[in-house]
Amino acid sequence: MPALLIKNARIVDGTSPEPTAPMDIAIEGDKFVEVGPSLSFEGAEVIDLKGAIVMPGLIDCHVHVVATTANLGQNAELPNAWVALKSAHIMKDMLMRGFTTVRDLGGADRGLQMAVADGLLDAPRLVICGKALSQSGGHTDYRGAFHNRDVSYYPEKLGALGRICDGVPEVQRATREELKNGAQFIKIMADGGVSSPSDPIGYLVFSVDEIKAVVEIAKGFGTYVSAHLYDDAAIVRALDCGVECIEHGNLMSEATIARIAREGQFVVPTNITFDYLAKEGAKFGLPPASVAKIEDVREAGLDQLAKLHKAGVTMGYGTDLLGGMHPQQSGEFALRGRYIPADAVIRSATLDAAKVLRMEGKVGTIAPGAFADLIVVDGNPLEDLALLADQGAHIPLIMQGGIVKKQTSCL
Ligand code: ZN
Ligand code: ZN
Repeated sequence: MPALLIKNARIVDGTSPEPTAPMDIAIEGDKFVEVGPSLSFEGAEVIDLKGAIVMPGLIDCHVHVVATTANLGQNAELPNAWVALKSAHIMKDMLMRGFTTVRDLGGADRGLQMAVADGLLDAPRLVICGKALSQSGGHTDYRGAFHNRDVSYYPEKLGALGRICDGVPEVQRATREELKNGAQFIKIMADGGVSSPSDPIGYLVFSVDEIKAVVEIAKGFGTYVSAHLYDDAAIVRALDCGVECIEHGNLMSEATIARIAREGQFVVPTNITFDYLAKEGAKFGLPPASVAKIEDVREAGLDQLAKLHKAGVTMGYGTDLLGGMHPQQSGEFALRGRYIPADAVIRSATLDAAKVLRMEGKVGTIAPGAFADLIVVDGNPLEDLALLADQGAHIPLIMQGGIVKKQTSCL
């Protein structure tokens, strides 16, 4: 017997360029149980939305909830307890922007995930990879050129986004440890990056044998490998090794886009972070060498959105923001909306995001059996994606797993 009935909701989930006709949504426990016109259940609490827009709870496929500053070397040195409490604030803000599920691409551990699942804090449902794997001098090696001190402490530091491993046996051990510790997928750094000191973009990070070793273990565990990538040659090599999800992917060739469309891997662009880093990165602690790297990838990433969309590649909504830049999380909607249709942008944070997370039917949809995660929007985001911005100001109701997390009095 449903306990809650939401009436007259026009649903926008990215599957259509128009909202649905008014629908009723029945919720029991933490799940949707029935969706259709004119439902009624005796004794159920009723919220009448009078034709307002409802969306599935939003999904961000690329976040770092432990990134309390854009200076990631400094972040890795911070005390674990402080990072955990600061992450709680970062996650609460994400939930208040309407993100009811996020996929963490390096840093968050089983402890944070358990705390969220146990209701110790209001936060998005967390999907984690544990520590991202990087080689010496790769994207999570923050030591720079002037010393080689031991970095075996990284796996024990909550503020470290990744850990360092070199050679097939070390890479195998790291993959197995992350899976043992609760990783739901494995993240590798397979290219150079912006926010780290010694890895130019286009650096073929890890050997083919190392990447294949990670993929073999992840697949054997029943999951997949996602890789941080920009450069086309690095992307082709990762695909050849069996990597199934491309993070960023800014410098991908047309041939690679066609291949991904054909083979069905996923791409998670993260344009807002480059856009904002270019403007404000230095202010938030990004070292000058990193700021200089941004232009190499920023414009290419934006140009590529339409190409990916046209080719039919499944894209996830990603942001990848660090430190004081987290409040820009919803800016990716309007930024993408300049290049691709609004329904496709929305789908990247709902149904397509659920595919990226391998949680199809569980999140990103308002359908029986899915978690009862939804947001109400003041206006139609298909006409104005900016309604999803402004820290949830146009989102009067946020529900996660059947529990109301935000409800303003005007509703
Ligand atoms: Zn990355
Ligand atoms: Zn990232």
